[in-house]
Amino acid sequence: EQFNFAELLNDSVESMKHTAPQHQLILNGNPDITYDGDRGRLEQVINNFISNAVKYSSAGTKVLINSAMDQDNIVVSVQDFGIGIAKENLHKLFDRYYRVDNTSMRFEGLGLGLYISAEILRRHGGSFWIESEVGEGSTFYFRLPIVQTEKQEVTRTATYYRDRYISINYNK
Ligand code: ATP
Ligand code: MG
Repeated sequence: EQFNFAELLNDSVESMKHTAPQHQLILNGNPDITYDGDRGRLEQVINNFISNAVKYSSAGTKVLINSAMDQDNIVVSVQDFGIGIAKENLHKLFDRYYRVDNTSMRFEGLGLGLYISAEILRRHGGSFWIESEVGEGSTFYFRLPIVQTEKQEVTRTATYYRDRYISINYNK
């Protein structure tokens, strides 16, 4: 499914604004390219990041959604100025049902949003990382490779076993 990535970001942020009237959601950057992927699922990822940013920060604070791209990748970040996450818990965040105990328990949630987001990003060949400081806030990043058709043609290698096609590897 092909879609314009800037439109996806716009749509996500606009819809999330209605759910977070107390926060200032600010979108920066305009990755105006055609991207091939699951639009609905990627919207879910962006919405999860934004809903966390809103949930784990105080009313009236900003949530900054930034995006940038180069020839090969789109990078999106969602930054909040909320409770932050201790370093020793960062690596567990994308686990199923994981929630940082203490502060987060005051907010409702199942601990599934990031687990699902990680899976969706993985299926798109993407990656993600987090920067956070307790009491100052967090920034969640994800990167999606932009797969260009001509590039695929050049670098695609197929694996065969006894004339049976097994898999195609894209080596970018
Ligand atoms: P839900 O399933 O409704 O998304 P959840 O928000 O608790 O529930 P995740 O989105 O998977 O679950 O997040 C897992 C945990 O990571 C949260 O419970 C919270 O402890 C921590 N976390 C996630 N995002 C942030 C953030 N922006 N700031 C601080 N802590 C966060
Ligand atoms: Mg969540």
